[in-house]
Amino acid sequence: MRRYLLYIDGREIAPQTHTWFDSYNPFLAEPWAQIPQGGAADVDVAVQAAHRSFAGGAWSQLTATERGQLLCRLAQLVAREADRLAEVEVRDNGKLLAEMSAQVRYLPRWFSYFGGLADKIEGRVPPLDKKGYFNFTRREPLGVVAAITPWNSPLLLAGWKVAPALAAGCTVVIKPSEYASASTLEFARLFAEAGFPPGVVNVVTGPGHDTGAALVRHPLVKKISFTGSDRSGRALNEVAAQSFKHVSLELGGKSPQIVFDDADLGDAINGAVSGIFAATGQTCIAGSRLLLQDSIYEEVVGRLVAMASSARMGDPMSLDTQVGPIATQAQYEKVLHYIQTAQQEGARLLLGGARALRPECGRGWFIEPTVFGEVAATMRIAQEEVFGPVLSVLRFNNEDEAVDIANDVRYGLGAGVWTKDIGRAFRVSEQLQAGTVWVNTYRVVSFMSPFGGYKDSGLGRENGIEAIDEYLQTKSVWINTGAPTTNPFVLR
Ligand code: NAD
Repeated sequence: MRRYLLYIDGREIAPQTHTWFDSYNPFLAEPWAQIPQGGAADVDVAVQAAHRSFAGGAWSQLTATERGQLLCRLAQLVAREADRLAEVEVRDNGKLLAEMSAQVRYLPRWFSYFGGLADKIEGRVPPLDKKGYFNFTRREPLGVVAAITPWNSPLLLAGWKVAPALAAGCTVVIKPSEYASASTLEFARLFAEAGFPPGVVNVVTGPGHDTGAALVRHPLVKKISFTGSDRSGRALNEVAAQSFKHVSLELGGKSPQIVFDDADLGDAINGAVSGIFAATGQTCIAGSRLLLQDSIYEEVVGRLVAMASSARMGDPMSLDTQVGPIATQAQYEKVLHYIQTAQQEGARLLLGGARALRPECGRGWFIEPTVFGEVAATMRIAQEEVFGPVLSVLRFNNEDEAVDIANDVRYGLGAGVWTKDIGRAFRVSEQLQAGTVWVNTYRVVSFMSPFGGYKDSGLGRENGIEAIDEYLQTKSVWINTGAPTTNPFVLR
């Protein structure tokens, strides 16, 4: 079994705890790698290294253009290693090789985009209402960033944080999920090869409540950029508030896909199936609630169930596989529990609803693609994030009712609208409480367009020009060009 090391201050080192834990392959349901258990002392060494590099160290000596060039060099190295890194992710989280390869091959664009942005961060000269002064603003990096990531797309989501953070001039300590740490540890080595000074990016692995919590508490960490569940996000936000750390949170969702009776139903059904069953439902933007207008309900449900029932399950490394396993045993049990709850609450099971016992699934943690019909908006299956291949289908009568049902959850990450009526597309997009609305498409993301949540789905934005703001603070500088300073008791 492969035994990994921490990556701190440009070097691979053993954890001071002298402890490693197993990382499981979800398809085989057996350990495949050993991950170092970083303790508070390891976290401290990593944060100190990041702080040294930031505060007067090698990183702070570089110009913004030089920082950008390093990011562009990193982009080339990630592109070179993409296929290998994607395979490591599949071993760790069981998601399809086709999806992880596409993600990791796309990842270099984040480094080149934010690399290009590094030397375009500008302050401004506000017009003034006072004579005899000059005022300008500077955009300054916050300092050491803790980037805490989940297991479902480890490298892509690390890149969403690391690229803008480094472009802004911050340094970073990444704490990947304890269920999928290997790819981030491999990725870290590329920073040295690209020529980044030691300490700019560090990786400390271990459980959230221990290693993650130590990072969140550390006084030299100035910003926490977190992606994960709203439960963990709330807990760490409370701790971060004690020392007024800046926090951005990318949390869970219960995203609706609304299909109106004027939509192209073939496209909408493709979008609904991929929205929930791609990635085995283990994506924050899973379209886990399908809202169908009464008049098309039966037809769409019939066609959707037929399509979902033909999905090929099996080895995620095989490019023929369409639905892979659930990433962890705990998540597997949780999804089965939700299926049971939905049945108890009176939702009608239309497809699946059980562990997948197909021979091609071996001993892996597989659950059949599951569809519940006649789901009421108040049921737990319509309100809570399952994070698995479970679709809830709800009915609506008219546009207002569709919007009401769509917004009637505490989450607000994504939403899909399927209609050929352009006026309706604009009206409904405006009324939906979600950070991203897709019209006649679903799950499209880009490094160029902001991404984030409304309501309990989070705070702050990743991607797009806005993302850089999450890692900067503004300083206002006043210069006296001739105003009198005569009366010390009067503020001018
Ligand atoms: P999780 O909250 O269990 O863990 C996420 C990360 O936080 C892990 O690295 C974990 O070790 C760490 N962590 C947990 N508790 C912590 C604490 N108290 N202090 C510091 N660190 C802590 O989430 P998960 O199960 O890995 O991921 C699934 C969740 O992530 C889902 O809710 C999903 O919707 C969400 N997600 C959101 C987005 C988004 O962009 N909005 C993207 C992907 C996943």
